[in-house]
Amino acid sequence: MALRGVLLDRDNTIIADPGYIDDPDLVTLLPGAADSIRRLREEGFTVAVVTNQSGVARGKFTEEQLADVHERMEELLHEQGVQLDGIYYCPYLDGSEAKVKKYRKASNLRKPEPGMLLVAAEELDLSLSESWMVGDSSRDVIAGERAGCRTILLGDRNGECDPDYVADSLEKAVDLVVAHKDDPPKGHEEDADQPKPVDMGKMMAEQAVREQDVVDLLTDIRDSLRRHERKQRHEDFSVLRLAGTLTQMLALIVGGWGMMAFSDTATALTRFVLAGFLQLVALTAFVCSEKRT
Ligand SMILES: [Mg+2]
Repeated sequence: MALRGVLLDRDNTIIADPGYIDDPDLVTLLPGAADSIRRLREEGFTVAVVTNQSGVARGKFTEEQLADVHERMEELLHEQGVQLDGIYYCPYLDGSEAKVKKYRKASNLRKPEPGMLLVAAEELDLSLSESWMVGDSSRDVIAGERAGCRTILLGDRNGECDPDYVADSLEKAVDLVVAHKDDPPKGHEEDADQPKPVDMGKMMAEQAVREQDVVDLLTDIRDSLRRHERKQRHEDFSVLRLAGTLTQMLALIVGGWGMMAFSDTATALTRFVLAGFLQLVALTAFVCSEKRT
């Protein structure tokens, strides 16, 4: 997993800038510089310096002298118990001001180009979108932006660049870095404000649960209707049977009554017809009750 880093400019950010420092004795740490770097490291950041040193191309000092200057800077930091994870510099410069032909060229390493930051990220395993570039010039900010870092300009906004933040000292810049430590990576800030992508699997599962709820409800209603229908049938069945039984009893009585009038053929026949009719009604009632069950 890539690390979070803070890439620092050198001159006027960590050390004072009297102009083209060629002598280790000219190196002086700015107030709060060592404490700032210490705090960043304690917060888990990798800390490296990325610095344009066109003084090499201009013939002001050699790379060997530059190495001595950097050794002195690290020595002063060590005295305060602080260590850097790396120092990257660009000795190149394009144009006629570059007196040393070997270093006269347009280089992607020279800020505001992002090359030096990209090399640092590669060597130190940094996630640039979770890293910061801090410096006192527009070149620092632009290089940081081009590399995909968050940027802090030390000083005032100047219209030449568009830093994420400005701070009037390295210590204040570190306050900002620490305060925004858990922000989304650069370029993904909108993710925190946007609704989360629709989880189709979850949505379908919820839909299935809702559908199952409806099925369960309909099943309950159907069962309830069936129970009600069975109960109704049972009641109908009882009424029909009772009516059939009573009618049949009445038919038997009327039949007996007809036999008592046997001597009067017409009356007996009338009573037998009535008994037969009642028997027919009783049978109809029984048949109906049988069909409904
Ligand atoms: Mg500077």
